[in-house]
Amino acid sequence: MINFDEITKVLQENNNFLITSHINLDGDGIGSELALYFILKKLNKKPIILNQDRLSKIYDFLPGSDKVNYLEDNCINPKSIDVGIVLDCSNIERIGKTYEIFKNIKTIINIDHHKSNENFGNLNYVDYSASSVGEIIYELIKSIDTDLLDEKISTCLFTAIITDTGSFRYSNVSSKTFGIASHLTYNGIKPHLIANNIYNRNTYPGLKLLGEALLTLEINETSYVSWLIITRKMLNDTKANDEDIEGIIDVATTLNNVEISILFRETKDNKIKVSFRSKGNFNVNKFAGKFKGGGHPNAAGCLCSGKLDEIKEKILSELLNDIKHLGYENKNKYFNNRKDNY
Ligand code: AMP
Ligand code: MN
Ligand code: MN
Repeated sequence: MINFDEITKVLQENNNFLITSHINLDGDGIGSELALYFILKKLNKKPIILNQDRLSKIYDFLPGSDKVNYLEDNCINPKSIDVGIVLDCSNIERIGKTYEIFKNIKTIINIDHHKSNENFGNLNYVDYSASSVGEIIYELIKSIDTDLLDEKISTCLFTAIITDTGSFRYSNVSSKTFGIASHLTYNGIKPHLIANNIYNRNTYPGLKLLGEALLTLEINETSYVSWLIITRKMLNDTKANDEDIEGIIDVATTLNNVEISILFRETKDNKIKVSFRSKGNFNVNKFAGKFKGGGHPNAAGCLCSGKLDEIKEKILSELLNDIKHLGYENKNKYFNNRKDNY
C-alpha cells in the first residue's frame, strides 16, 4: 500500500480536485468528504464535492453541507479536474452515475477501509483496520500538519467515526479510534450536540415506518436470524422517505440471541436492496459477495433485481443452509458468546 506522503505529494502538486463517495451517502462518506474539502481549501486548492444522491437531512448540521454539489444540478467538465478522490467505496460502481465524470479524470485516488476494495484508483490507500474513512483522513491530516485540524474539520471527522462505529459499539473500534475521537474533542467540538443532530431528529413518518417494518419482523426457529421488509407501499402509507429507513435494520439486530439480521427493501427504481448485519463472527461481507454485494464483516449489502418475495426466499434459504453447513448449532464456534467474553 502507498503511504500518506505519496497522497500528499499529489495533493500539493495539483489544483482542482473532485471528491465523491458512494450512493446513499452515509455519515462516513459525507464527514470524510467535507473534512478533505476543508483541508484542501486550507492548502489553497480548489476542491469540489459531487455526489449522486442528496444528503440525508440528519447531516444538514455539518459545516459545509451546503457546499455539496449534486449530479442532477451540475455539469462538471472532467477536463477541468486534475484529480478525482473517491472515499469509502469498495469498487468504482459504488459512486453511481458520477462515474460518467470520474471515468474521464486522469488521476483517481481511492481512500477506503473495506476489505473487499478492488484497488480501482491510480493511487490506492486502503486500510482495513480503520473503523472509518474518517479515521484515515484524520491520519492523513496529521501527517500533513496537525495544526490544520479545527472545529469544523473535527466535527466532520467525529461524525464519520461515530456513524461507522455505531457510536463506538462495533467490532471495528480500536484504541486508536478512541485516541482519535479524544483528540478531536480538544478542538471545541460538542459530541453530545453531534449525537443529538444525528440520532434525535427522527420524523413522525419515520417512526411510523419503523412501526410498520417491525410488524414484518420474523425470526428463524433457532432465533439466530431475524429479518424485516420495507415496501414502497409502506413508505407511501406512512409518508416516510427513503432516508427514514436508515437505522431500522439495527433495531432488528438488538434482539437477544439474534446473530444475523437482514432488511429487504424495495428501492425507488424497482430493485431490491438487501442489508445484512451480524453481531459475532459470521462474515456478512463474504455472504453478500455471493449476490455481487459487499461491505464489512459485520455490515454489508447487495442490490438485486426481481420480486421481493423471491429474493427474500432465495437469500434466506441460502443463509440458513450456510449456517447449518458451517455447523452453527455449535454456536460458540462460529458466533461470539458474549456472556463468556464479558
Ligand atoms: P447498508 O446496508 O447500505 O447500510 O451498507 C452496509 C455496508 O455494506 C456499507 O459499508 C456499505 O458500503 C456496504 N454495501 C452496501 N451495499 C453494497 C453493495 N451493493 N456493494 C458493495 N458494498 C455494499
Ligand atoms: Mn459508507
Ligand atoms: Mn465507511
